[in-house]
Amino acid sequence: MAAEGLIHRVETEFNPKPKKHSDSIEDQVAILKPAIEAITAEMEALSASEHDGEIFEALSMLVADEALFDEAVLKIEEGFDAGTSFYQATVDMSEILKDDPDFSERANDMLDLAKRVWAKTYGVNLELAIPEGKSLILVAEDFAPADTAKFNSSVRGVITKNGGPTSHVAILCRSKSIPALVGVREADKLVSGQSVLIDPAGDRVVIGGKVDQATVSMAFIPEFDNPLIPVYGNVGSAPDAEKSASAGATGVGLFRTEFVFLNQAETPSERQQAEAYQSVIESAPQGEFIARTLDAGSDKPLPFLEIEDEENPALGVRGFRINGINPLFSGEQLKALKAAADAAGRKVSVMAPMVSRLSEAKEFAQLAREHGFEKVGIMVETPSIIFQLKHLEGVVDFLSIGTNDLSQYLFAADRLHPKLGNLLDVWQPALLEAISYTVEQAGKVGIKVGICGEAASDPLLAIVLAGIGVDTVSASPSQVENVTNALRAVNKEQASQIAKMALSKNRAAEARNAAKHAFAQR
Ligand code: PEP
Ligand code: MG
Repeated sequence: MAAEGLIHRVETEFNPKPKKHSDSIEDQVAILKPAIEAITAEMEALSASEHDGEIFEALSMLVADEALFDEAVLKIEEGFDAGTSFYQATVDMSEILKDDPDFSERANDMLDLAKRVWAKTYGVNLELAIPEGKSLILVAEDFAPADTAKFNSSVRGVITKNGGPTSHVAILCRSKSIPALVGVREADKLVSGQSVLIDPAGDRVVIGGKVDQATVSMAFIPEFDNPLIPVYGNVGSAPDAEKSASAGATGVGLFRTEFVFLNQAETPSERQQAEAYQSVIESAPQGEFIARTLDAGSDKPLPFLEIEDEENPALGVRGFRINGINPLFSGEQLKALKAAADAAGRKVSVMAPMVSRLSEAKEFAQLAREHGFEKVGIMVETPSIIFQLKHLEGVVDFLSIGTNDLSQYLFAADRLHPKLGNLLDVWQPALLEAISYTVEQAGKVGIKVGICGEAASDPLLAIVLAGIGVDTVSASPSQVENVTNALRAVNKEQASQIAKMALSKNRAAEARNAAKHAFAQR
Protein backbone atom coordinates (compact mmCIF):
# COMPACT_ATOMS: atom_id res chain seq x y z
CA MET A 1 0.00 0.00 0.00
CA ALA A 2 1.55 3.25 -1.14
CA ALA A 3 0.35 6.85 -1.23
CA GLU A 4 1.37 10.23 -2.53
CA GLY A 5 0.83 13.58 -0.86
CA LEU A 6 2.40 16.73 0.45
CA ILE A 7 4.78 16.58 3.39
CA HIS A 8 3.25 18.11 6.53
CA ARG A 9 5.77 18.33 9.36
CA VAL A 10 4.38 18.15 12.87
CA GLU A 11 6.30 19.22 15.98
CA THR A 12 5.91 16.53 18.61
CA GLU A 13 9.04 17.36 20.61
CA PHE A 14 8.08 18.48 24.11
CA ASN A 15 10.47 19.87 26.72
CA PRO A 16 8.58 21.69 29.45
CA LYS A 17 10.58 23.93 31.80
CA PRO A 18 10.30 22.70 35.42
CA LYS A 19 8.07 25.03 37.47
CA LYS A 20 7.82 25.44 41.24
CA HIS A 21 4.61 26.17 43.17
CA SER A 22 3.85 28.29 46.17
CA ASP A 23 0.55 26.54 47.03
CA SER A 24 -0.06 23.91 49.64
CA ILE A 25 0.78 20.34 48.72
CA GLU A 26 -2.91 19.45 48.91
CA ASP A 27 -3.82 22.19 46.40
CA GLN A 28 -1.33 20.83 43.85
CA VAL A 29 -2.47 17.24 44.42
CA ALA A 30 -6.01 18.51 43.85
CA ILE A 31 -4.86 19.85 40.45
CA LEU A 32 -3.01 16.65 39.53
CA LYS A 33 -5.68 14.10 40.41
CA PRO A 34 -8.43 15.35 38.06
CA ALA A 35 -5.87 15.82 35.29
CA ILE A 36 -4.83 12.16 35.59
CA GLU A 37 -8.47 11.11 35.75
CA ALA A 38 -9.30 13.11 32.64
CA ILE A 39 -6.50 11.51 30.61
CA THR A 40 -7.41 8.05 31.94
CA ALA A 41 -10.99 8.66 30.80
CA GLU A 42 -9.77 9.87 27.38
CA MET A 43 -7.74 6.68 26.91
CA GLU A 44 -10.69 4.54 28.02
CA ALA A 45 -12.94 6.31 25.53
CA LEU A 46 -10.37 5.67 22.76
CA SER A 47 -10.14 2.02 23.77
CA ALA A 48 -13.85 1.73 22.99
CA SER A 49 -13.83 3.70 19.75
CA GLU A 50 -10.45 3.13 18.09
CA HIS A 51 -8.84 0.25 16.23
CA ASP A 52 -6.63 -1.87 18.48
CA GLY A 53 -8.55 -0.75 21.57
CA GLU A 54 -6.33 -2.83 23.85
CA ILE A 55 -3.46 -0.43 23.22
CA PHE A 56 -5.49 2.42 24.68
CA GLU A 57 -6.75 0.25 27.50
CA ALA A 58 -3.14 -0.46 28.48
CA LEU A 59 -2.36 3.27 28.28
CA SER A 60 -5.28 4.09 30.55
CA MET A 61 -3.79 1.74 33.14
CA LEU A 62 -0.30 3.20 32.70
CA VAL A 63 -1.41 6.77 33.33
CA ALA A 64 -3.46 5.77 36.37
CA ASP A 65 -0.56 3.81 37.87
CA GLU A 66 -0.45 4.41 41.62
CA ALA A 67 3.32 4.13 41.93
CA LEU A 68 3.68 6.87 39.33
CA PHE A 69 1.19 9.05 41.19
CA ASP A 70 3.10 8.52 44.47
CA GLU A 71 6.36 9.54 42.78
CA ALA A 72 4.68 12.66 41.42
CA VAL A 73 3.41 13.56 44.91
CA LEU A 74 6.98 13.25 46.24
CA LYS A 75 8.04 15.81 43.61
CA ILE A 76 5.16 18.11 44.62
CA GLU A 77 6.47 17.84 48.17
CA GLU A 78 9.88 18.92 46.86
CA GLY A 79 8.19 22.12 45.62
CA PHE A 80 7.49 21.33 41.95
CA ASP A 81 4.04 22.07 40.57
CA ALA A 82 1.56 19.34 39.61
CA GLY A 83 2.35 19.28 35.88
CA THR A 84 6.14 19.32 36.33
CA SER A 85 5.95 16.68 39.05
CA PHE A 86 3.97 14.21 36.99
CA TYR A 87 6.09 14.81 33.91
CA GLN A 88 9.36 14.41 35.83
CA ALA A 89 8.14 11.28 37.64
CA THR A 90 7.30 9.76 34.25
CA VAL A 91 10.65 10.75 32.74
CA ASP A 92 12.43 9.12 35.73
CA MET A 93 10.39 5.95 35.37
CA SER A 94 10.90 5.71 31.60
CA GLU A 95 14.66 6.27 32.08
CA ILE A 96 14.81 3.24 34.38
CA LEU A 97 12.82 1.11 31.97
CA LYS A 98 14.23 2.24 28.65
CA ASP A 99 17.11 -0.26 28.55
CA ASP A 100 14.61 -3.09 28.71
CA PRO A 101 14.16 -4.10 25.06
CA ASP A 102 10.52 -5.03 25.68
CA PHE A 103 9.86 -1.61 27.04
CA SER A 104 12.00 0.78 25.02
CA GLU A 105 9.37 1.30 22.33
CA ARG A 106 6.74 2.01 25.00
CA ALA A 107 8.80 4.80 26.61
CA ASN A 108 7.46 7.33 24.12
CA ASP A 109 3.90 6.29 24.88
CA MET A 110 4.49 6.99 28.57
CA LEU A 111 6.03 10.37 27.89
CA ASP A 112 3.11 11.27 25.68
CA LEU A 113 0.69 10.43 28.48
CA ALA A 114 2.71 12.62 30.84
CA LYS A 115 2.62 15.43 28.29
CA ARG A 116 -1.18 15.17 28.18
CA VAL A 117 -1.48 15.23 31.98
CA TRP A 118 0.91 18.21 32.07
CA ALA A 119 -1.26 20.06 29.52
CA LYS A 120 -4.43 19.34 31.51
CA THR A 121 -2.94 20.77 34.70
CA TYR A 122 -2.34 24.06 32.87
CA GLY A 123 -5.50 23.94 30.77
CA VAL A 124 -3.30 24.02 27.63
CA ASN A 125 -4.42 22.44 24.35
CA LEU A 126 -1.65 20.32 22.79
CA GLU A 127 -3.87 18.44 20.38
CA LEU A 128 -2.61 17.72 16.90
CA ALA A 129 -4.30 20.04 14.38
CA ILE A 130 -4.35 18.57 10.88
CA PRO A 131 -5.90 20.61 8.06
CA GLU A 132 -8.93 18.98 6.43
CA GLY A 133 -9.46 18.32 2.74
CA LYS A 134 -5.83 17.76 1.75
CA SER A 135 -3.57 14.83 0.89
CA LEU A 136 -0.86 14.94 3.53
CA ILE A 137 2.05 12.77 4.51
CA LEU A 138 2.69 13.57 8.17
CA VAL A 139 6.30 13.70 9.35
CA ALA A 140 7.36 13.87 13.00
CA GLU A 141 9.97 12.56 15.42
CA ASP A 142 7.28 10.17 16.59
CA PHE A 143 3.54 10.03 17.11
CA ALA A 144 1.79 8.81 20.22
CA PRO A 145 -1.12 6.38 19.97
CA ALA A 146 -3.58 9.11 20.96
CA ASP A 147 -2.25 11.30 18.11
CA THR A 148 -3.30 8.65 15.63
CA ALA A 149 -6.90 9.08 16.83
CA LYS A 150 -6.67 12.64 15.50
CA PHE A 151 -5.61 11.52 12.02
CA ASN A 152 -8.37 12.71 9.68
CA SER A 153 -9.01 11.85 6.04
CA SER A 154 -6.25 14.27 4.97
CA VAL A 155 -3.66 11.86 6.36
CA ARG A 156 -2.53 9.68 3.47
CA GLY A 157 0.74 8.52 4.99
CA VAL A 158 2.95 8.80 8.05
CA ILE A 159 6.72 9.03 8.39
CA THR A 160 8.51 9.06 11.73
CA LYS A 161 12.16 9.47 12.56
CA ASN A 162 11.98 7.25 15.63
CA GLY A 163 10.27 3.99 16.38
CA GLY A 164 10.46 0.51 14.98
CA PRO A 165 8.08 -1.90 13.30
CA THR A 166 6.46 -2.72 16.61
CA SER A 167 6.00 0.87 17.76
CA HIS A 168 2.38 1.75 18.30
CA VAL A 169 2.22 4.24 15.49
CA ALA A 170 3.29 1.48 13.08
CA ILE A 171 0.70 -0.95 14.43
CA LEU A 172 -2.12 1.59 14.50
CA CYS A 173 -1.38 2.88 11.00
CA ARG A 174 -1.40 -0.69 9.70
CA SER A 175 -4.82 -1.30 11.15
CA LYS A 176 -6.11 2.04 9.83
CA SER A 177 -4.63 1.17 6.41
CA ILE A 178 -2.45 4.27 6.42
CA PRO A 179 0.91 3.63 4.74
CA ALA A 180 3.62 4.29 7.33
CA LEU A 181 7.40 4.26 7.43
CA VAL A 182 8.92 4.40 10.90
CA GLY A 183 12.52 4.87 12.01
CA VAL A 184 13.38 6.87 8.88
CA ARG A 185 16.68 8.37 9.87
CA GLU A 186 16.62 10.94 7.09
CA ALA A 187 13.11 12.18 7.93
CA ASP A 188 14.59 15.53 8.99
CA LYS A 189 15.39 16.30 5.39
CA LEU A 190 11.75 16.24 4.32
CA VAL A 191 10.29 19.72 4.01
CA SER A 192 6.64 20.73 4.45
CA GLY A 193 4.95 21.18 1.09
CA GLN A 194 7.23 18.73 -0.76
CA SER A 195 5.31 16.22 -2.87
CA VAL A 196 6.36 12.62 -2.09
CA LEU A 197 5.47 9.01 -2.69
CA ILE A 198 5.50 6.91 0.47
CA ASP A 199 6.20 3.33 -0.58
CA PRO A 200 6.34 1.02 2.44
CA ALA A 201 6.67 -2.10 0.26
CA GLY A 202 9.86 -0.61 -1.18
CA ASP A 203 10.87 0.78 2.24
CA ARG A 204 11.34 4.22 0.71
CA VAL A 205 10.09 7.75 0.31
CA VAL A 206 10.42 9.05 -3.23
CA ILE A 207 10.49 12.82 -3.52
CA GLY A 208 8.23 13.79 -6.40
CA GLY A 209 7.22 10.15 -6.83
CA LYS A 210 3.79 9.01 -8.00
CA VAL A 211 1.73 6.03 -6.88
CA ASP A 212 2.21 4.23 -10.19
CA GLN A 213 5.92 4.02 -9.36
CA ALA A 214 5.29 2.20 -6.09
CA THR A 215 6.93 -1.16 -5.56
CA VAL A 216 4.71 -3.80 -7.09
CA SER A 217 3.41 -6.01 -4.32
CA MET A 218 3.03 -9.33 -6.05
CA ALA A 219 2.74 -12.68 -4.43
CA PHE A 220 5.87 -14.59 -5.24
CA ILE A 221 5.44 -18.22 -4.31
CA PRO A 222 8.89 -19.74 -3.92
CA GLU A 223 9.40 -22.83 -6.08
CA PHE A 224 13.12 -23.36 -5.62
CA ASP A 225 15.17 -23.85 -2.48
CA ASN A 226 17.57 -21.04 -3.27
CA PRO A 227 17.19 -17.68 -4.97
CA LEU A 228 18.46 -17.55 -8.54
CA ILE A 229 21.23 -15.18 -7.40
CA PRO A 230 22.34 -14.36 -3.85
CA VAL A 231 20.33 -11.72 -2.01
CA TYR A 232 22.31 -9.50 0.35
CA GLY A 233 21.23 -6.69 2.67
CA ASN A 234 22.06 -2.98 2.60
CA VAL A 235 23.00 -1.91 6.10
CA GLY A 236 23.92 1.24 7.97
CA SER A 237 23.89 -0.05 11.54
CA ALA A 238 24.08 -3.21 13.64
CA PRO A 239 20.24 -3.49 13.87
CA ASP A 240 20.02 -3.28 10.05
CA ALA A 241 22.59 -6.07 9.86
CA GLU A 242 20.61 -8.22 12.31
CA LYS A 243 17.40 -7.55 10.42
CA SER A 244 19.05 -8.58 7.15
CA ALA A 245 20.35 -11.77 8.74
CA SER A 246 16.98 -12.73 10.17
CA ALA A 247 15.29 -11.99 6.82
CA GLY A 248 17.56 -14.56 5.21
CA ALA A 249 20.19 -12.38 3.52
CA THR A 250 23.31 -14.34 2.67
CA GLY A 251 25.66 -11.40 2.91
CA VAL A 252 25.93 -7.63 3.05
CA GLY A 253 26.21 -5.97 -0.34
CA LEU A 254 26.51 -2.43 0.97
CA PHE A 255 27.55 -1.22 4.39
CA ARG A 256 27.02 2.55 4.26
CA THR A 257 29.80 3.45 6.67
CA GLU A 258 28.89 7.15 6.66
CA PHE A 259 25.56 6.30 8.32
CA VAL A 260 27.41 5.39 11.51
CA PHE A 261 28.64 8.97 11.86
CA LEU A 262 25.81 11.08 10.42
CA ASN A 263 25.11 12.89 13.69
CA GLN A 264 28.65 13.11 14.99
CA ALA A 265 30.15 16.58 15.36
CA GLU A 266 33.72 15.36 16.10
CA THR A 267 35.88 13.39 13.70
CA PRO A 268 35.73 9.74 14.85
CA SER A 269 39.12 8.33 15.85
CA GLU A 270 40.44 5.21 14.14
CA ARG A 271 39.60 3.21 17.25
CA GLN A 272 36.05 4.60 17.50
CA GLN A 273 35.55 3.73 13.86
CA ALA A 274 36.90 0.21 14.29
CA GLU A 275 34.59 -0.46 17.24
CA ALA A 276 31.56 0.84 15.38
CA TYR A 277 32.36 -1.18 12.26
CA GLN A 278 33.05 -4.32 14.27
CA SER A 279 29.61 -4.28 15.86
CA VAL A 280 27.99 -4.06 12.42
CA ILE A 281 30.19 -6.81 10.97
CA GLU A 282 29.48 -9.11 13.92
CA SER A 283 25.71 -8.60 13.54
CA ALA A 284 25.76 -9.30 9.81
CA PRO A 285 24.67 -12.47 8.07
CA GLN A 286 27.49 -14.90 7.33
CA GLY A 287 28.80 -14.69 3.79
CA GLU A 288 30.25 -11.84 1.79
CA PHE A 289 30.45 -8.47 3.52
CA ILE A 290 31.08 -5.38 1.39
CA ALA A 291 31.89 -2.16 3.19
CA ARG A 292 31.77 1.04 1.26
CA THR A 293 34.24 3.73 2.24
CA LEU A 294 32.68 6.99 3.40
CA ASP A 295 30.26 8.44 0.88
CA ALA A 296 29.96 11.88 2.41
CA GLY A 297 28.82 15.14 0.96
CA SER A 298 25.76 16.23 -1.01
CA ASP A 299 22.69 14.50 0.45
CA LYS A 300 24.76 12.90 3.23
CA PRO A 301 26.70 15.72 4.91
CA LEU A 302 28.95 14.67 7.79
CA PRO A 303 29.15 17.58 10.25
CA PHE A 304 32.81 16.94 11.12
CA LEU A 305 34.03 17.08 7.53
CA GLU A 306 33.35 20.78 7.08
CA ILE A 307 32.91 20.52 3.34
CA GLU A 308 32.68 23.97 1.82
CA ASP A 309 29.29 25.13 0.57
CA GLU A 310 28.91 24.33 -3.09
CA GLU A 311 26.54 25.57 -5.77
CA ASN A 312 25.73 22.00 -6.88
CA PRO A 313 26.73 19.61 -4.07
CA ALA A 314 25.64 16.48 -5.98
CA LEU A 315 28.16 17.45 -8.63
CA GLY A 316 30.76 18.56 -6.14
CA VAL A 317 33.34 17.15 -3.79
CA ARG A 318 31.69 14.00 -2.53
CA GLY A 319 32.34 10.28 -2.22
CA PHE A 320 35.79 9.21 -3.33
CA ARG A 321 36.57 12.78 -4.41
CA ILE A 322 37.15 13.64 -0.75
CA ASN A 323 40.11 11.25 -0.74
CA GLY A 324 43.25 13.28 -0.21
CA ILE A 325 41.38 16.17 1.39
CA ASN A 326 40.77 14.38 4.66
CA PRO A 327 42.98 11.72 6.26
CA LEU A 328 39.90 9.65 7.06
CA PHE A 329 39.63 8.92 3.39
CA SER A 330 43.24 8.33 2.54
CA GLY A 331 43.81 5.23 4.57
CA GLU A 332 42.60 5.84 8.12
CA GLN A 333 39.19 4.39 7.44
CA LEU A 334 40.62 1.40 5.61
CA LYS A 335 42.87 0.69 8.61
CA ALA A 336 39.87 0.84 10.93
CA LEU A 337 37.82 -1.41 8.64
CA LYS A 338 40.62 -3.98 8.43
CA ALA A 339 41.07 -3.93 12.22
CA ALA A 340 37.30 -4.42 12.64
CA ALA A 341 37.22 -7.30 10.14
CA ASP A 342 40.17 -9.01 11.84
CA ALA A 343 38.68 -8.54 15.31
CA ALA A 344 35.38 -9.99 14.09
CA GLY A 345 37.21 -12.86 12.36
CA ARG A 346 35.46 -12.07 9.08
CA LYS A 347 36.63 -11.37 5.54
CA VAL A 348 35.51 -7.95 4.43
CA SER A 349 35.61 -6.54 0.92
CA VAL A 350 35.76 -2.81 0.32
CA MET A 351 34.49 -0.55 -2.42
CA ALA A 352 34.67 3.16 -3.14
CA PRO A 353 31.66 5.34 -3.97
CA MET A 354 31.35 7.91 -6.75
CA VAL A 355 34.28 6.81 -8.84
CA SER A 356 34.20 8.54 -12.21
CA ARG A 357 37.66 7.89 -13.71
CA LEU A 358 39.88 4.90 -14.27
CA SER A 359 42.69 6.66 -12.36
CA GLU A 360 40.47 6.87 -9.27
CA ALA A 361 39.62 3.17 -9.50
CA LYS A 362 43.34 2.37 -9.69
CA GLU A 363 44.19 4.71 -6.84
CA PHE A 364 41.53 3.20 -4.57
CA ALA A 365 42.37 -0.39 -5.49
CA GLN A 366 46.04 0.16 -4.72
CA LEU A 367 45.26 1.83 -1.40
CA ALA A 368 42.85 -0.91 -0.38
CA ARG A 369 45.26 -3.70 -1.32
CA GLU A 370 48.06 -1.96 0.60
CA HIS A 371 45.78 -2.15 3.62
CA GLY A 372 45.37 -5.89 3.23
CA PHE A 373 42.00 -6.19 1.47
CA GLU A 374 41.84 -9.11 -0.94
CA LYS A 375 38.61 -8.22 -2.72
CA VAL A 376 38.31 -4.67 -3.88
CA GLY A 377 35.58 -3.02 -5.91
CA ILE A 378 34.08 0.25 -6.99
CA MET A 379 30.55 1.47 -7.25
CA VAL A 380 29.13 2.23 -10.65
CA GLU A 381 27.25 5.44 -10.01
CA THR A 382 28.53 7.81 -12.68
CA PRO A 383 27.93 7.27 -16.40
CA SER A 384 31.60 8.01 -17.20
CA ILE A 385 32.93 4.92 -15.44
CA ILE A 386 30.61 2.68 -17.51
CA PHE A 387 32.66 3.62 -20.56
CA GLN A 388 35.92 2.65 -18.87
CA LEU A 389 34.96 -0.82 -17.73
CA LYS A 390 37.09 -2.64 -20.28
CA HIS A 391 40.17 -1.09 -18.66
CA LEU A 392 39.33 -2.40 -15.21
CA GLU A 393 40.62 -5.91 -15.83
CA GLY A 394 43.03 -6.79 -13.02
CA VAL A 395 42.26 -3.49 -11.27
CA VAL A 396 39.12 -4.37 -9.33
CA ASP A 397 37.40 -7.64 -8.48
CA PHE A 398 33.80 -6.48 -8.49
CA LEU A 399 31.43 -3.68 -9.36
CA SER A 400 28.36 -2.61 -7.45
CA ILE A 401 25.82 -0.56 -9.35
CA GLY A 402 24.32 2.21 -7.24
CA THR A 403 21.16 2.81 -9.19
CA ASN A 404 20.13 5.75 -6.98
CA ASP A 405 23.03 7.91 -8.02
CA LEU A 406 23.40 6.34 -11.42
CA SER A 407 19.81 7.46 -12.20
CA GLN A 408 20.57 10.92 -10.84
CA TYR A 409 23.57 11.34 -13.14
CA LEU A 410 22.20 9.47 -16.16
CA PHE A 411 19.07 11.61 -16.26
CA ALA A 412 20.64 14.79 -14.84
CA ALA A 413 17.84 14.68 -12.28
CA ASP A 414 18.59 15.62 -8.67
CA ARG A 415 17.60 12.58 -6.60
CA LEU A 416 15.97 14.89 -4.01
CA HIS A 417 14.07 16.98 -6.55
CA PRO A 418 10.36 17.10 -5.71
CA LYS A 419 9.23 17.11 -9.36
CA LEU A 420 11.57 14.67 -11.06
CA GLY A 421 10.47 11.39 -9.51
CA ASN A 422 9.48 10.01 -12.93
CA LEU A 423 13.01 10.31 -14.25
CA LEU A 424 14.28 8.43 -11.24
CA ASP A 425 11.89 5.52 -11.70
CA VAL A 426 13.95 2.34 -11.35
CA TRP A 427 12.19 0.90 -14.40
CA GLN A 428 13.39 3.65 -16.75
CA PRO A 429 14.52 1.89 -19.93
CA ALA A 430 17.76 3.90 -20.12
CA LEU A 431 18.71 2.74 -16.62
CA LEU A 432 17.95 -0.88 -17.51
CA GLU A 433 20.07 -0.51 -20.67
CA ALA A 434 22.92 1.01 -18.65
CA ILE A 435 22.81 -1.95 -16.27
CA SER A 436 22.70 -4.39 -19.14
CA TYR A 437 25.69 -2.74 -20.85
CA THR A 438 27.64 -2.73 -17.57
CA VAL A 439 27.01 -6.45 -17.08
CA GLU A 440 28.08 -7.18 -20.67
CA GLN A 441 31.29 -5.11 -20.44
CA ALA A 442 32.22 -6.43 -17.00
CA GLY A 443 31.60 -9.98 -18.19
CA LYS A 444 34.17 -9.50 -20.97
CA VAL A 445 36.88 -8.71 -18.41
CA GLY A 446 35.72 -11.24 -15.81
CA ILE A 447 34.45 -8.77 -13.20
CA LYS A 448 31.39 -9.64 -11.08
CA VAL A 449 28.49 -7.18 -10.88
CA GLY A 450 26.13 -6.61 -7.98
CA ILE A 451 23.33 -4.06 -7.60
CA CYS A 452 22.91 -2.20 -4.33
CA GLY A 453 20.70 0.75 -5.28
CA GLU A 454 16.96 0.84 -4.68
CA ALA A 455 16.35 -1.04 -7.92
CA ALA A 456 17.41 -4.22 -6.13
CA SER A 457 14.71 -3.76 -3.47
CA ASP A 458 11.90 -4.15 -6.01
CA PRO A 459 11.23 -7.93 -6.12
CA LEU A 460 9.98 -7.97 -9.71
CA LEU A 461 12.88 -5.85 -10.88
CA ALA A 462 15.29 -8.13 -9.00
CA ILE A 463 14.09 -10.93 -11.32
CA VAL A 464 14.80 -8.71 -14.32
CA LEU A 465 18.26 -7.90 -12.96
CA ALA A 466 19.03 -11.59 -12.49
CA GLY A 467 17.79 -12.17 -16.03
CA ILE A 468 20.12 -9.46 -17.32
CA GLY A 469 22.98 -11.36 -15.73
CA VAL A 470 23.69 -9.46 -12.54
CA ASP A 471 25.54 -11.72 -10.04
CA THR A 472 24.05 -10.47 -6.74
CA VAL A 473 21.41 -8.04 -5.50
CA SER A 474 21.52 -6.18 -2.21
CA ALA A 475 18.21 -4.90 -0.87
CA SER A 476 16.91 -2.86 2.07
CA PRO A 477 16.58 -5.18 5.08
CA SER A 478 12.79 -5.00 4.98
CA GLN A 479 12.79 -6.14 1.34
CA VAL A 480 15.31 -8.97 1.64
CA GLU A 481 12.65 -11.60 2.22
CA ASN A 482 10.37 -10.40 -0.61
CA VAL A 483 13.27 -10.19 -3.04
CA THR A 484 14.46 -13.66 -1.99
CA ASN A 485 10.98 -15.10 -2.51
CA ALA A 486 10.77 -13.51 -5.95
CA LEU A 487 14.13 -14.97 -6.93
CA ARG A 488 13.05 -18.38 -5.65
CA ALA A 489 10.06 -18.28 -7.98
CA VAL A 490 11.99 -18.31 -11.28
CA ASN A 491 14.73 -20.22 -13.04
CA LYS A 492 17.45 -18.74 -15.24
CA GLU A 493 15.51 -19.11 -18.53
CA GLN A 494 12.37 -17.59 -17.08
CA ALA A 495 14.28 -14.64 -15.62
CA SER A 496 16.04 -14.05 -18.96
CA GLN A 497 12.70 -14.06 -20.77
CA ILE A 498 11.16 -11.65 -18.24
CA ALA A 499 14.21 -9.37 -18.60
CA LYS A 500 13.98 -9.53 -22.38
CA MET A 501 10.37 -8.38 -22.26
CA ALA A 502 11.16 -5.52 -19.87
CA LEU A 503 14.12 -4.41 -21.99
CA SER A 504 11.98 -4.35 -25.12
CA LYS A 505 9.88 -1.44 -23.85
CA ASN A 506 10.64 2.24 -24.05
CA ARG A 507 8.67 3.61 -21.12
CA ALA A 508 9.14 2.80 -17.43
CA ALA A 509 5.50 1.85 -16.82
CA GLU A 510 5.48 -0.37 -19.92
CA ALA A 511 8.68 -2.12 -18.86
CA ARG A 512 7.20 -2.85 -15.43
CA ASN A 513 3.93 -4.13 -16.91
CA ALA A 514 5.75 -6.26 -19.46
CA ALA A 515 7.78 -7.89 -16.69
CA LYS A 516 4.65 -8.45 -14.63
CA HIS A 517 2.89 -10.02 -17.58
CA ALA A 518 5.89 -12.19 -18.50
CA PHE A 519 6.17 -13.36 -14.90
CA ALA A 520 2.49 -14.37 -14.87
CA GLN A 521 2.90 -16.22 -18.21
CA ARG A 522 6.12 -18.03 -17.35
C1 PEP B 1 23.22 4.38 -4.85
O1 PEP B 1 23.56 5.52 -5.18
O2 PEP B 1 22.45 3.67 -5.51
C2 PEP B 1 23.70 3.82 -3.57
C3 PEP B 1 23.47 2.57 -3.25
O3 PEP B 1 24.33 4.67 -2.74
P1 PEP B 1 23.59 5.76 -1.83
O4 PEP B 1 22.12 5.58 -1.99
O5 PEP B 1 24.08 5.53 -0.46
O6 PEP B 1 24.08 7.04 -2.43
MG1 MG C 1 25.19 6.48 -4.17
